[in-house]
Amino acid sequence: MIKEALSDIKNEIPEEVTLVAVSKTKPQSDILEAYEAGQRIFGENRARELEEKAQALPKDIEWHMIGHLQSNKVKYIAPYVTMIHAIDKFKLIKEIHKQAAKNNRIIKVLLQFHIAEEESKYGLTLEKAREMLDQNKLSDYPNVQICGVMGMATFTDDENKVRAEFKRLKNIFDHMKTNFFADQNEFQVISMGMSGDYTIAIEEGSTMIRVGSNIFGERS
Ligand SMILES: *Cc1c(COP(=O)(O)O)cnc(C)c1O
Repeated sequence: MIKEALSDIKNEIPEEVTLVAVSKTKPQSDILEAYEAGQRIFGENRARELEEKAQALPKDIEWHMIGHLQSNKVKYIAPYVTMIHAIDKFKLIKEIHKQAAKNNRIIKVLLQFHIAEEESKYGLTLEKAREMLDQNKLSDYPNVQICGVMGMATFTDDENKVRAEFKRLKNIFDHMKTNFFADQNEFQVISMGMSGDYTIAIEEGSTMIRVGSNIFGERS
């Protein structure tokens, strides 16, 4: 069933949109089933779970940390993680640089923006992001590469609302690209869209979707 679900999604989305298969809470056997169907990019939201799975599973898997991450947990995933999606303070960038350097690696990251109407502790506003980039010199942290933006829409059936929030993230991406990353080709990722809303997200410019339950079934 995992194989069928994966190929249904792959057939439905444009080739240039990257699919992150969100395997959080799911057993390694589920990941292997998706792996055998050709999937190589998996998303986790807990540092220790990512570490354990990365150690046990094939080395050509690209691991993405998609959830909120505390600075003191970065060291557990630094040897394995390809991309960290939810950067919302500069302190995290400093720590990721430090741990990535220790491991002789460059870790890609995305800036998480708060686009939903729902109250949330997480995610940057545009002002905060501007301030963060004005006050710090990214070239001091060469083992971190900022590759784009990430966001989550409100969990609602109201399609217009979800669409408006994704449009906002696309505008934020364009603004950041023009004002801070104009000369950086790597700044090209818009990570938005989950099981319930990835079709809308792609229509609004998503380049990377994070899909869990539509592939692996509901989480308990
Ligand atoms: C769990 C999670 C997803 C996947 O959610 P589904 O609705 O199961 O597709 C995507 N993004 C983030 C940040 C998540 O935590």
